[in-house]
Amino acid sequence: GGVTRAWCTVDYVPDSKFYKVEAILRPWRVPHVSSALLKIGIRGVTVSDVRGFGAQGGSSERQAGSEFSEDNFLAKVKMEIVVSKDQVESVIEKIIEEARTGEIGDGKIFLLPVSDIIRVRTGERGEKAERMTGGQADIISVGSN
Ligand code: ATP
Ligand code: GLN
Repeated sequence: GGVTRAWCTVDYVPDSKFYKVEAILRPWRVPHVSSALLKIGIRGVTVSDVRGFGAQGGSSERQAGSEFSEDNFLAKVKMEIVVSKDQVESVIEKIIEEARTGEIGDGKIFLLPVSDIIRVRTGERGEKAERMTGGQADIISVGSN
């Protein structure tokens, strides 16, 4: 039951209908990522300002720039995007495409299974709650009709 990409098949463990793509990124790349995601019909995105420490450590790319924090944690943005399994790879590809500079500190992506989704307004669950009007599923089904 793997997901086929251009060059390989990926099996996520544990298997789930929905996944959360959690990306820790450079704040100034986030607008590029979100507009690229919107173009492929990914409309549900949550962002938070976070601070982190990775291989980049406390060395900021700009000594006096906004990424530098007093205690060596760098300002990052966490993007959380919940999608159906078949949309995971396109989301990951877009994030890499738009967030990558090639320098240390570009960030990291975590993939987590999501057990269920509930739309508060309607009480819908699962697929019905995950689908968004004008979302990727709509775009693809219109295109193939
Ligand atoms: P409704 O149709 O009731 O408006 P909706 O699915 O459009 O429901 P909202 O209530 O507009 O969802 O979403 C509230 C917030 O939840 C959004 O601002 C966003 O932060 C977050 N969110 C919604 N869907 C997702 C998703 N698939 N992935 C990540 N965050 C999401
Ligand atoms: N999978 C949803 C759809 O195709 C979109 C999910 C999202 O925007 N995060 O409608």
